[in-house]
Amino acid sequence: MKDCIFCKIANKEIPSNIVYEDDKVIAFKDLNPQAPIHILVIPKEHIESLNQIDERNANLISDVMLVIRKLAKDLEIEEKGYRVVNNCGEYGGQTVFHIHFHLLGGRKFSWPPG
Ligand code: 5GP
Ligand code: ZN
Repeated sequence: MKDCIFCKIANKEIPSNIVYEDDKVIAFKDLNPQAPIHILVIPKEHIESLNQIDERNANLISDVMLVIRKLAKDLEIEEKGYRVVNNCGEYGGQTVFHIHFHLLGGRKFSWPPG
């Protein structure tokens, strides 16, 4: 997708700190980390938000979740815990319209979110 910053990261057109990649999913460090560990995990296919998930592409979300699961294990945050966030749309606080899941860890988070 032209002009999508996360498509450009997935295509290596702009640099990022990639921590995992396979044929469907890529994970990279957030530019503006909100925790000691802050990784964005995305399907390489351009999907705008959770609103565009249906029976045909839902498998990509489970692929993303399996990568999150693997990263949590590899980064040794699975025992203490971590947070996975998807911001959807304006009220959800989404700023980049290529679906992504934040993996946040390394500190304790509060609830409810702001
Ligand atoms: P959202 O608010 O859409 O859920 O999250 C977008 C996230 O993307 C933000 O946490 C922001 O810091 C991150 N971000 C925006 N542009 C870039 C970029 O060019 N590179 C990286 N690595 N992260 C970015
Ligand atoms: Zn995109």
